[in-house]
Amino acid sequence: MSKPKVAVIFTGGTIAGQSDSNLDTTSYRAGVLTGAELLAQIPAVHDFCTPVPEQFRNVVSTDITDADLLALHALVTRQLAQDDIAGVVITHGTATLEETAAFLQFTLRSDKPVVLVGAMRPNSAISADGQMNLVQAFALAASPQARGRGILVCANDRIGSAIYISKTNAQAVDTFQARDAGFLGVMMGVRPLFYAQPAQPLLPPCFDVAGGGALPRVAVVHTHLNDDPGVLEYFLAQGASGLVIAAAGNGTLSSAMARQANACVERGVPVVKSSVCGAGFVWNEGKDKLIPAGFHNPQKSRMLLALCLRQGMDMAEIEACFTVQLG
Ligand code: ASP
Repeated sequence: MSKPKVAVIFTGGTIAGQSDSNLDTTSYRAGVLTGAELLAQIPAVHDFCTPVPEQFRNVVSTDITDADLLALHALVTRQLAQDDIAGVVITHGTATLEETAAFLQFTLRSDKPVVLVGAMRPNSAISADGQMNLVQAFALAASPQARGRGILVCANDRIGSAIYISKTNAQAVDTFQARDAGFLGVMMGVRPLFYAQPAQPLLPPCFDVAGGGALPRVAVVHTHLNDDPGVLEYFLAQGASGLVIAAAGNGTLSSAMARQANACVERGVPVVKSSVCGAGFVWNEGKDKLIPAGFHNPQKSRMLLALCLRQGMDMAEIEACFTVQLG
């Protein structure tokens, strides 16, 4: 029987990282090895699938631009449209992997698996995690069991959802966690075992980004004691059309920041209130005019707000996209 074809898009990151020393896990260069070189290291994937490679970029993931995301979307869409492609793997630096994953979750609807994969140790290191992560990502993308589960993240033997997963540790190989929602499943070698379906009602509508049109600029402001509300005006003057505030706790702002943020909303600028906590829920307790981010962290809120603005949504429509129906 012929093996399922899996498209693989290489973007760079630590999974393609290299150093002169196999003990170096900190000062290596990300995005060095090509996709062809990475594939040559894992011939075993041919036992269960046929990779169809595409070198999209080879960069550290913090250099991926909004224009890159739109181009990546177009590429993945083309691949998913091919009947003989069972799924898509995207190699990506872990630093911003969750942002690209969230963007694709908000903009792609396909039952075929799309799996993002990265690594915490460069390819040159002893006990590098990238090869096994990549093999498992292929297995996941080729698996009929992975269909209809949204955009997936595969790393460290775990399967996560783009919506819930976040990078939580700057070095450790178990960096991807979904603290409230948990993992969707595990990889038992090259066989996925799913615990549950993602809860579909938590997903916003799918945004159509075909046909060009840049993502509007949205700035993220991190709050702290003695913060300066003037930064909101600064970002607006720099061309931001929307703001995300990474607020304290469950969305708490200093009085001065709250006044300034509400003044922005009164002028028609959408301001989303997320949390620095990395887990938990920000809701609308009626104290201000800001849009509560629900469970979206600041960087994923930035993505969602930019997509809302690109679509020309008004304040109420934007709020509806962030709103989660509670029981
Ligand atoms: N250190 C990052 C990584 O883990 C580099 C990147 O995001 O490209 O992949």
